Amino acid sequence: MANNYSYGFQSMEVYDELHPKLQRIVDELIKHMDVSLLEGIRGKVEQNNYFASGTSHVRWPNGRHNVTEPGQKSRAVDMQPYPYDPKSERRILFMSGLAKGIAEGLGIRVIVGSDWNNNGVLADQKFHDLFHLELHSSEV
Ligand SMILES: [Zn+2]
Repeated sequence: MANNYSYGFQSMEVYDELHPKLQRIVDELIKHMDVSLLEGIRGKVEQNNYFASGTSHVRWPNGRHNVTEPGQKSRAVDMQPYPYDPKSERRILFMSGLAKGIAEGLGIRVIVGSDWNNNGVLADQKFHDLFHLELHSSEV
């Protein structure tokens, strides 16, 4: 059943930074689950700070949040369920799986931060970023 959720102001700012294929995915996702879009485009300083703190495992410009040309859109989005409960990892995973299923239904290949190698096994990786969704390299 579809609901009437809508993006808040901060989410709309992030939305405008996203690749059109990511916009199609989140537009469908928000019909089913209320979410906040946290980050789209990430600058060089931010990316390298995230790397230094361990929040990201790549340096600029090697992340899909990073753009290197004017007008380029983010090929990754970080998002979380709304309202957010930091104690409910399962709810974040539910959102991530729902988003992946929606993407596949739209014929768009994606990678989620709970399954970087895309093998369906969540226990075979060390770096977990449950908020992260990115377009597969074959999509851009
Ligand atoms: Zn991310």
